[in-house]
Amino acid sequence: MLAHAGRVNALGEMASGIAHELAQPIAAMLSQSQAAKRALAIGRQDILEKALDANIREAKRAGDILGRMRAYISGAPADIKMVPLDEAITEAMRLVEADIKARAINLNMIIPADLPAVPIDVVSFQQVIHNLVRNAADAVARCPSPLITLTAGREGDGVAIEVADNGPGIETGSLHRIFDPFFTTKPDGMGLGLPLSSRLIERMNGSLEAHNDGGATFIIRLPLGEAA
Ligand code: ADP
Repeated sequence: MLAHAGRVNALGEMASGIAHELAQPIAAMLSQSQAAKRALAIGRQDILEKALDANIREAKRAGDILGRMRAYISGAPADIKMVPLDEAITEAMRLVEADIKARAINLNMIIPADLPAVPIDVVSFQQVIHNLVRNAADAVARCPSPLITLTAGREGDGVAIEVADNGPGIETGSLHRIFDPFFTTKPDGMGLGLPLSSRLIERMNGSLEAHNDGGATFIIRLPLGEAA
């Protein structure tokens, strides 16, 4: 009985997780398709092509997310490959840049040229960066000069990637709960972004932690792996 309840809960959690992760690419495809229709109406082939490219990218991303989720449910290991860290970050940021720009948020990227390759699951890594940046964007929404700073560098035996914002920081008393499934302080939040991100990073043998430092700062730590 209890085991069954546990399984039903885990399933519900997973279903909510999938819905959470897919909401963004689907919303992006909707707005890009609307843009494509407008472009068609005014005969702007260039805008049409850009919108279609964005749609292809987002549809691939949605497919990738479903593939990852399937792998996660089946307990298959993460698809870990050695990837240059700067490439992984640049690619991940490409997916959120338009949103940040549309919200008039300044983005400061401090990515040194000599970053090593790291053993990561690229799609999961992108999802994590995406979640952290989206949370940071939500946090700075009411700031007079909203700023998100993304810093990457070597640290000890591995690398660290920091996503910091100049928002109000994590609410006092919530710091120990933000990685719990369904913990959210947002009216439309699901509270699944951080627990999923943390699990995905752990599957890459890394860690994800948070602290307040002016605004909120999230730090991903990853090992270098054998090849480094
Ligand atoms: P959701 O975004 O749906 O609330 P998350 O798991 O991503 O789910 O985040 C959980 C909670 O952690 C948020 O509701 C918020 O209270 C807090 N949080 C996350 N990122 C930040 C941030 N950058 N600044 C302040 N609080 C944050």
